[in-house]
Amino acid sequence: MNPPSPTARPASIDVDVLVAGGGLVGLTLAVALSGAGLSVAVVDRLPPDQPLETSFDGRASALSFAVWRMLGALGIAQHITVAEPILDIVVTDADRRRQPSPLSLQFDRDDAGEEALGWMVENRHIRVALDAAAAARPNLHRLAPDSVEGFDVDGPHVTARLASGGQVRAQLLVGADGRNSQVREALKIRSYGWPYRQSALVTTVHLAAGHGGTAYEMFLPDGPLAVLPLSEDRANIVWSQDSRLAQARAGLAPEALGHDLTQATGGAFGAMTLVAPADVWPLELRLAAEWVRPRVTLAGDAAHVIHPLAGQGLNLGLKDVAALADVLVAASRVGEDIGSTLVLDRYAAWRRADTVTLALACEGFTRLFSNEIGPLRMLRTAGLGLVDTVAPARRFFARHAGGAAGDLPRLLRGEALA
Ligand SMILES: Cc1cc2nc3c(=O)[nH]c(=O)nc-3n(C[C@H](O)[C@H](O)[C@H](O)COP(=O)(O)OP(=O)(O)OC[C@H]3O[C@@H](n4cnc5c(N)ncnc54)[C@H](O)[C@@H]3O)c2cc1C
Repeated sequence: MNPPSPTARPASIDVDVLVAGGGLVGLTLAVALSGAGLSVAVVDRLPPDQPLETSFDGRASALSFAVWRMLGALGIAQHITVAEPILDIVVTDADRRRQPSPLSLQFDRDDAGEEALGWMVENRHIRVALDAAAAARPNLHRLAPDSVEGFDVDGPHVTARLASGGQVRAQLLVGADGRNSQVREALKIRSYGWPYRQSALVTTVHLAAGHGGTAYEMFLPDGPLAVLPLSEDRANIVWSQDSRLAQARAGLAPEALGHDLTQATGGAFGAMTLVAPADVWPLELRLAAEWVRPRVTLAGDAAHVIHPLAGQGLNLGLKDVAALADVLVAASRVGEDIGSTLVLDRYAAWRRADTVTLALACEGFTRLFSNEIGPLRMLRTAGLGLVDTVAPARRFFARHAGGAAGDLPRLLRGEALA
């Protein structure tokens, strides 16, 4: 393969891997592959500086400890300036008076045997860190703003046509272009799922009584409300609820929404004061029926979108990155064709079961906890209480939440690819 041209917008370049979509998943993949010696081009429709603006994405992500290890192995975590350790996770049912249930599920870092169960990082900080890590890779070529208009597979190559009129030829195209993936659509890959009637109200608050490093998931009558620890006694709020209600709440004055949140959490965190605007994110479940075609594969939200109640969507996408990078680097070392279905099927087989299991578990939780029928309520409360009292069950959930269950690719073990 020829190395990419160093010019800003070449009319035509030739690389090993073309990644469509330079979001959190696509850019991490590009950093991983280029760090292992492959030449990579990333195309994103947004100007590179736009995602770095503070107002671009008010979300924060609960990164599992295995994913955190991976970001360290890739030299990305070193650029993250603010990260808050998650020391405990508390999942609690709530009764109609909105008081936390005495029966709740709680597991901590000792259950996982790790320094922390995970790390809370504001997405804006992850984007800045990724940008810095990408800038240090001479064989990573960023093409933005631009987009993949179409592509043709011809023998050992896939050739993509860009909106700018440029062209990229690669051995492999990875569609990391998000939930409405055009790569997935161009291949006519069906996806299964449905929009939820719920949207997530997202904001950041200051907690008068602090959080003590605990991440809370409270199943309130309006929907699951996550209070996720950030630095300086701030917390990221993700409150999934009826879409119209979420819009109405987002339109409230900051003081009124802060009061609403303080009431909804029963005053458990003291007064909650908004320190960022409120955004509304529509929610859906969507799973691609296939992940692989000759010379093309999918990763991240392009392959799977799940409910955010378990905070696992990005973790799933970054686990895709770990597995795909592992498979591709190993294949290229022994001279295999990295765009062949033989190689790509190994990646899909590695990731499929984990993805479907987690998506179904989130779906089950969403349904179970959005139902106020008496026996169901007793069943779920008993379920939480049972898990809480059985140490091996707690350890099982803690390892899963930490992303350390199953056969882990090297990056998730914190090992380098090369
Ligand atoms: C409210 C909420 C809270 C969440 N909290 C968590 C959490 O705590 N932990 C967690 O693990 N996950 C969480 N998630 C999920 C997580 O945010 C997503 O799974 C993740 O951001 C997906 O990243 P991605 O790179 O696959 O897709 P995206 O972030 O959608 O990136 C896709 C990229 O592709 C580009 N693009 C799109 N189309 C084209 C095109 N045609 N040409 C070129 N470029 C294109 C876009 O500009 C974008 O940069 C949450 C999600 C929501 C909605």
